[in-house]
Amino acid sequence: MEKTYKAEPYRIKMIEPIRETTKSERKRLLTEAGYNPFSLRSEDVYIDLLTDSGTGAMSQAQWAALMMGDEAYAGSRSFYRLEKVVKEITGYPYFIPAHQGRGAEQVLLPRLVHKKGMFFLSNMHFDTTRAHVELAGARAIDCVVDVCFETEKEHPFKGNFDLDKLRHHIEEKGAENIAGIIMTITNNSAGGQPVSMANLREVSAIGRALNIPLIIDGARYAENAFFIKTRETGYARHSLREIARETFELADIFLMSAKKDGLCNIGGLLAIKSDQKLFETCRTHLVPLEGFPTYGGLTGRDMEALAVGLEEALEEDYLAHRLDQVRYLGDRLIAAGIPIQRPVGGHAVFVDCHAFAPHIPYDQFPGQSVVNALYLEAGVRAVEIGSFLLGRDPDTHENLQSPLEFMRLTIPRRTYTYRHLDVVADAIITIHEKRHELVGLTFEYEPKVLRHFTARLRPVTS
Ligand SMILES: *Cc1c(COP(=O)(O)O)cnc(C)c1O
Repeated sequence: MEKTYKAEPYRIKMIEPIRETTKSERKRLLTEAGYNPFSLRSEDVYIDLLTDSGTGAMSQAQWAALMMGDEAYAGSRSFYRLEKVVKEITGYPYFIPAHQGRGAEQVLLPRLVHKKGMFFLSNMHFDTTRAHVELAGARAIDCVVDVCFETEKEHPFKGNFDLDKLRHHIEEKGAENIAGIIMTITNNSAGGQPVSMANLREVSAIGRALNIPLIIDGARYAENAFFIKTRETGYARHSLREIARETFELADIFLMSAKKDGLCNIGGLLAIKSDQKLFETCRTHLVPLEGFPTYGGLTGRDMEALAVGLEEALEEDYLAHRLDQVRYLGDRLIAAGIPIQRPVGGHAVFVDCHAFAPHIPYDQFPGQSVVNALYLEAGVRAVEIGSFLLGRDPDTHENLQSPLEFMRLTIPRRTYTYRHLDVVADAIITIHEKRHELVGLTFEYEPKVLRHFTARLRPVTS
């Protein structure tokens, strides 16, 4: 692998000041936040790696496009501009805008659940996707390849569907009870790990043979396309657009959080390839849930910026830099002997907190403990992706044990410099040196759904 790093392929035209706090301030702030960095104020965070969702910087072309927004309630010019770009990229004729990815999920997923006892099979459901599956009365089953759980093991496509698991679940549950197959690209929850075209092709064939719709949950489809180009045999000379188009040809429905590869601060997309009836019922439900079909929860200017962002996200220079920044942070941690998901994925470095703090049991949330330590050390906000996020079994209400306990260091797009990433790496190296001092956490307040956003915790004192 190439080990030289290039500088950012842009220069800074506008700045947003950020502030360092003292360690004693951070101690107080974290206690007040119930040991859950979601409850911190952003002003009290120095470098914010909570998420890459809607946190990136827009380009000058996007800011200029904002001024072109047509704010008409119906028939906005900005809608038609966005629709044209989405159609060109996906090749799908039916398009619905939504306020963000979960907006598109709430419009689509319940429409696919026709009766009780249905299932969605995914390489890995993203947390809001899982929540919408469950709210629709269905169950979500993950079928990712096992190598995804071996963090130290290098594999180019750790996001792939395990085809045996997929076939097994279809056989066991009956094809008529499978509401859809959801291919998440890249596989966010497993470390932004990509899915190969070969895998997509096989999953597509299985779905088609049984008339099960294949849904691309494609928040990071452009990053996935770049991984295919650089890692999969036969794709080096394909353009990213060609790879994206091939991806969509293999599926039936495309859902997207445009806060990721849309390079926008808000937005979502739903596009459908051929099922006109499904499109019409989604559009009918869109009105009370998100808004009129030509805005779906977005302003005209949002749709303009998104139309530009979707194009920019497929530029090779941009993607090469984007993935290189993530790799840079990963390489610094690997060099210091810190266990991370390897190879690093597209949008984040995932630190293996089970290996980092093996003395903390899963139901005391080792990932959350490391996340809190990182904030205390340097004012860096990361997020737990593990048992704290996973929640409880909907039937037994037991804490589910996540196969992976991660701290996710998510890199916002076009926002931080390599020097910021050095600060993050240095702080993690420091806490790794005193990792035996880390303690687990227990709930003070636990909401029923998506608990990780608003829960309050306290350190376990034995
Ligand atoms: C972010 C994300 C979503 C949800 O999108 P929002 O815009 O946050 O509502 C769904 N699926 C995946 C894979 C995501 O990364």
